[in-house]
Amino acid sequence: MTGRVIYSVVVPVYNEEEVVAESVKRLTAVMNSTKKNYELIFVNDGSRDNTKKLLQGIRDKNKKLKIIDFSRNFGHQIAITAGMDYAEGEAVLIIDADLQDPPEVMLEMIKKWEQGYDVVYGKRKKRKGETIFKLMTAKVFYRFLSGMTQIKIPKDVGDFRLLDRKVCDAMCRIHERNRFVRGLISWAGYNQAEVPYVREKRYAGKTKYPFIKMIRFALNAIVSFSYKPLRLASLLGVLVSLGGFGYLIYVIFQFFNGETVPGWTSLISLSLIFNGIILMILGIIGEYIGRIYDESKARPLYLINELIGFKAQPRSKRGKNEN
Ligand code: UDP
Ligand code: MG
Repeated sequence: MTGRVIYSVVVPVYNEEEVVAESVKRLTAVMNSTKKNYELIFVNDGSRDNTKKLLQGIRDKNKKLKIIDFSRNFGHQIAITAGMDYAEGEAVLIIDADLQDPPEVMLEMIKKWEQGYDVVYGKRKKRKGETIFKLMTAKVFYRFLSGMTQIKIPKDVGDFRLLDRKVCDAMCRIHERNRFVRGLISWAGYNQAEVPYVREKRYAGKTKYPFIKMIRFALNAIVSFSYKPLRLASLLGVLVSLGGFGYLIYVIFQFFNGETVPGWTSLISLSLIFNGIILMILGIIGEYIGRIYDESKARPLYLINELIGFKAQPRSKRGKNEN
């Protein structure tokens, strides 16, 4: 099974020493069953544990495994992007290392791809072994996101998916820094299909998405795909001014009635409310300006410390320029 690579499997890993061995084992079993040539691209996203050493050990025996080793932690979405940049396959599969997304589902994705679909994503019917907090925040996030953005991003769908070569190439042409990969894929269009699956418990270890990373992820998703927060800010401004105007009329009316408006309390509370709203709106604008700043600096999306097992040049220009 040498020659042209048909399937590339991209796996981002960050401090996953407890799962990588099992992960490679399961992925290898599934991919061998396709009887086609494939590669497993593990993107080591600046792990501080033994992940890289373990991967190198596995690679000594299993040459299907290739490793992109980042210079530091760049985040899940960037790790996936680097994997796509270097993938050679006709179809590119993206999957987490922790086996929450069962590798066997990839076979169903491949079937759909063979039927002619360009993007096949896994839709979570059920999520096992996750905290109520995670389930709730995920649910709110997917609903909120679909309310906030113009493009249709499917609900309860993660990054577990298959991309045809042409979609992967399209992704390589997108240079946005604050990336929300699944949103970009929806934006790209093409022929999309879904495969329902049950999301399993993490095989071992803890989630690498603490609350603060989840917030950043959600903000990126919304701000990169929508101007609605800015519009809502203007709407809020209009509503508040109308309210203020109404209050002014009321005060003038009372003045002519000979009643003075009592109070320092009301003034202070109004002032606090308005100042709060102004700061909030400035914050929203700041989110957008910060992103403009990021884009204008045009720094590389990621830096690579070491590439292990790659012969071909990366398909994307980004990968070439940066190394
Ligand atoms: N991950 C990564 N970089 C990060 C955080 C996570 O490459 O900064 C990887 C992680 O190793 C895993 C995948 O992204 O393979 C999804 O992370 P995790 O399972 O912790 O997220 P959850 O499933 O809890 O949302
Ligand atoms: Mg997980």
